[in-house]
Amino acid sequence: MIIILKHGASDDEVETVSQKLRDHGYQPNVTRGVEDTIIAAIGSPSLSEKEMVAPQLQALEAVERVLFVSKPYKLVSRESHPADSVLDIQGVKVGGQQICVMAGPCSVENREQVMTTAQAVRESGAQILRGGAYKPRTSPYDFQGLGLEGLEILAAARKATGMPVITEVMTPSLVEQVCEYADVLQIGARNMQNYDLLKEVGRCRTPAMLKRGLSSTIEEWLKAAEYILAGGNSNVMFCERGIRTFEPSTRFTLDLSAVPAIKKASHLPIIVDPSQGTGRRDMVIAMSKAAIACGADGLLIEVHPHPEDAMSDGQQTLDIAQFNTLMHDLKPIAAAVGRSL
Ligand code: PEP
Ligand code: MN
Repeated sequence: MIIILKHGASDDEVETVSQKLRDHGYQPNVTRGVEDTIIAAIGSPSLSEKEMVAPQLQALEAVERVLFVSKPYKLVSRESHPADSVLDIQGVKVGGQQICVMAGPCSVENREQVMTTAQAVRESGAQILRGGAYKPRTSPYDFQGLGLEGLEILAAARKATGMPVITEVMTPSLVEQVCEYADVLQIGARNMQNYDLLKEVGRCRTPAMLKRGLSSTIEEWLKAAEYILAGGNSNVMFCERGIRTFEPSTRFTLDLSAVPAIKKASHLPIIVDPSQGTGRRDMVIAMSKAAIACGADGLLIEVHPHPEDAMSDGQQTLDIAQFNTLMHDLKPIAAAVGRSL
């Protein structure tokens, strides 16, 4: 059940409604937006929701409307929030009219590599710098990332370029540390159902990008996002990064139908990652265009000054000239769907 309060509801009124919910055995989850205050009632009530609880709530002065959300992902659902949510990442908007491009190396390798890439992608029009400091690698013998040193390099690049930074956090115990350096927390595909991590990210207020699990359904993905919102962090975006299928010619199968599916089910923005999604540099530009055409709010693109020397994912990484071409080629596609780059 979602309770929408009247415009300008006071803190006391919010508390009165919350207390009523607690009396009925719910846990109230309050989200205060610029205009509206919404309270999600989490848990099962002791009395019938429709016949007993809702009329009592409706009788309270501060309550505008009581919504029954049939979906198991309540706060994430479009039913609870019909308008698109627009996230604000240090002034960069995600989910609005402008397409947001996040670009940078798969892994942070050294200061020079990150600085060179950051400056180049910014000049081409990227708004957010990506780079992995803690890397989830399939083999324990592969490069595992620079960890804290990598975060420091990303922070230096942010200072030099003014670009907000997105980087992955893999462990609940490191959320606090990564929040000190990152403007967006990336939750990797392999961690989409790491519920302790989702709960910890729900407790912080740093925006998060939740990648789709390698074999996860859309509904599992929506429920995973609900963990973060239920914890109180509503700054969440999705990222489609390809799923496992029987097809071996690409590393994963980029499921672009996830974009309209998520747009229909949820108010949260969705980004597409054609780099992990295909595993092939020669497909990144085409799939980026397709992603924008089908309604994605942004892209996550791997870029490296010398992809052939990259310590991870070089085969799917664009060089600086190719990234510049991509940004140029996307402009007419964005314009055709009423967006700008
Ligand atoms: C990445 O972005 O480099 C990455 C490891 O992503 P994913 O979790 O989608 O594999
Ligand atoms: Mn990668």
